[in-house]
Amino acid sequence: MYDEPGVSQIQLERLAVFLKETFPVQVETRNSILKFSKKDTAIKIASCRIFNLRKPYEKHSPSIEEILFEEANFEDTAKTENIIMYDGFEIHKVLTELIPNEETSSNLFHIFFTNKLTCTYDYNDYRYHGRALIGANPSIISTTGIVEAPAKPREYYLDLISNFTHGINVESIKQKYKGTYLEYNDAHLSKIIEGYLLQAIFYFETGEAFCDKTECRLYNAHWQKDLLYSQLENGKLCEVHQQVLKKLTMT
Ligand SMILES: [Zn+2]
Repeated sequence: MYDEPGVSQIQLERLAVFLKETFPVQVETRNSILKFSKKDTAIKIASCRIFNLRKPYEKHSPSIEEILFEEANFEDTAKTENIIMYDGFEIHKVLTELIPNEETSSNLFHIFFTNKLTCTYDYNDYRYHGRALIGANPSIISTTGIVEAPAKPREYYLDLISNFTHGINVESIKQKYKGTYLEYNDAHLSKIIEGYLLQAIFYFETGEAFCDKTECRLYNAHWQKDLLYSQLENGKLCEVHQQVLKKLTMT
């Protein structure tokens, strides 16, 4: 697992313990794979930015500022208030290239954490969607995706819209719905990430990442409410997947 130094709530060492307790495998934690990266990697990553949610990926020609931003990110000194969107599969390609050749065998599973919002274009509704998990080997888990991809309560958005006409106060609306969704820097993040780790590993091992039961940590939550329920309140695998896990850990 490769850390995202920008998000201390990931608690990589804690997640390593969780994995070792769940699977009979060796777990190694590392710095971000982007640390000490060079300008050419910064250019490649900046090229993955997306600007139009309604159009499939087109390679972006990054500006100097965008390249400098990525370089600052390598050192964890980049500052931005905005959420920047990236094509998840394109980022995946760039990060995969950084894995040393001798470590690309199929019995090594790499997981990158990032605070970049990874998005994938969906041809069913012809638009990009934020994704918390890009499942493959390597897998990417986006902490911004965990916060932004599953939707907040419908009422939250309605309040935002109705207040928009007479001077918006986003903070007061956030306060009203506090606890119904995950926030940035939320102390629960590490616990919730465990579920995404399970999804990534189940996908790698069985070809199936998700479960349709909210009473399962493999549940693919589209709403924050369901995410908090399946990962925190419920916090375990369903019967079926407990059996699958049992089989996986026996071999
Ligand atoms: Zn299940």
